[in-house]
Amino acid sequence: MTAELKKYLLEHCRAWMLPEEIRALTRIGLTKYGEETDRKLALVEPKIEAMYGFADEKTNQLVEMGKERLEIRIAERLLKDSGDTIINNCPKCGKLTRTPKAKQCRYCKHDWH
Ligand SMILES: [Zn+2]
Repeated sequence: MTAELKKYLLEHCRAWMLPEEIRALTRIGLTKYGEETDRKLALVEPKIEAMYGFADEKTNQLVEMGKERLEIRIAERLLKDSGDTIINNCPKCGKLTRTPKAKQCRYCKHDWH
């Protein structure tokens, strides 16, 4: 998988991610201090727990993989399960667009609005 495709999947395809994947990415982006703070808050605040999933086994397993492996795993799953829907290639030159809903190509400037 190219770095460009991985970035596209992780940054623009959240709508196709599983709840535990989004929670794991949110948590893995936190600093150690931030995670400790939020873990305490999550114990008494259901909304925080829903966002970070500290008590959710699936989320915890994903977080334990570490950032690098987690990102690749999510990107590969998205491609396998939803690739046909989310990969938006330019109809003219066939290259990957910037987002799943883009209607303009950043390479050849083709516009299909
Ligand atoms: Zn193009």
